[in-house]
Amino acid sequence: MHTNLRTDISIQAICTGFVYNELEGKGLFGLSGKLTIQPEYQRNYIYATEGGGKEVAVVESVLRGYPLGLIYFNKIADDRFEVLDGQQRITSLGRFVTDKFAIRDGQGHQQYFSGMAADKRALILDTKLLVYACEGTESEIKEWFKTINIAGVPLNDQELLNAVYSGPFVSLAKEAFSNSQNSNIHKWSTYIKGTAIRQDFLACALKWVSKGDVGTYMASHRGAANIQQLATYFHTVIQWVESVFTDVEKEMCGIDWGRLYEEHHHKPYDAKAVSAKLQELYGDAYVKDRKGIFEYILGGCTDTKLLEIRAFDEMTKKVVYEAQTIKAKAKNKSNCPLCAEGPEASKRKIWSLADMDADHVTAWSKGGATDKKNCQMLCKTHNRVKGNR
Ligand SMILES: [Zn+2]
Repeated sequence: MHTNLRTDISIQAICTGFVYNELEGKGLFGLSGKLTIQPEYQRNYIYATEGGGKEVAVVESVLRGYPLGLIYFNKIADDRFEVLDGQQRITSLGRFVTDKFAIRDGQGHQQYFSGMAADKRALILDTKLLVYACEGTESEIKEWFKTINIAGVPLNDQELLNAVYSGPFVSLAKEAFSNSQNSNIHKWSTYIKGTAIRQDFLACALKWVSKGDVGTYMASHRGAANIQQLATYFHTVIQWVESVFTDVEKEMCGIDWGRLYEEHHHKPYDAKAVSAKLQELYGDAYVKDRKGIFEYILGGCTDTKLLEIRAFDEMTKKVVYEAQTIKAKAKNKSNCPLCAEGPEASKRKIWSLADMDADHVTAWSKGGATDKKNCQMLCKTHNRVKGNR
């Protein structure tokens, strides 16, 4: 790979012919059309969306004469470049000189570029950037791209995968899943955490269709001219969830619906009964983990571990232990009611509080409450035996 350090490119030159696409949230071209700011393996522009502070900081750095760091171009033909690293910084500068955002001056007033004093404008436009122009094979460039991704907001896993497996498939997939203007995003956000711009929906769709083996899937579909399988699988999972769970709850967001679909989609569910059960569990103060409710229902309401049923508190255990132990001693029997009925060896054994556990006399799943009246202390062995039934 060839590299050539250039110190002759000014901000004015870079920003000549700057085009920013508001809809896709990305800077497109600069350097009089010779520079592609966002090649398809790059991410969308996020300096502006993450609080807005970063793009202001880029401009302020220039005004103070601070270095902006190295920028890397990939030379793709004579006088044709694409930005390998520095897209966020260049887009910030391009957006500023085209009056897309303002900074605060020394008096705290909002200043757009066109309203600044001529000397300040010149200071910005005449500032030279430090640019490495590189030439190499696609795989060299991409391998290197993984290691130079140091400045700005780090790429997340999906953004890196998009870079490594860039091609027609990634372009189509991003069009479908990473466009924040997509009208389905609101619906998807009910079930999936994250944002389109940071590739979270795409990451989820790929994870589901590939059963977790995203890299292999992307590699084998890299040159594909359509994303039909990916899109169909994703929509099938979403539609399945919608048809089983007609309620919309905030705990639905971020559940691994792809796995639940694989495990349960062959079973029939009565959406009305599911909804009634869901509401009952949402109203149950003993259910600590509401996220677990969905899998609990899908699995036929048997695995109560998914719900983290509230345990008896220490005070209740102590009170029940004292009462149980006093009675047991008076009868000369074990304070574990199951030991008391058992073989001679432990029939009269008085266990310490530390050697006992609290048990629901009537199980929670059969309507038993987590309160004093439904609490009995059992020795640890008997509690385990009863818990496993
Ligand atoms: Zn016992």
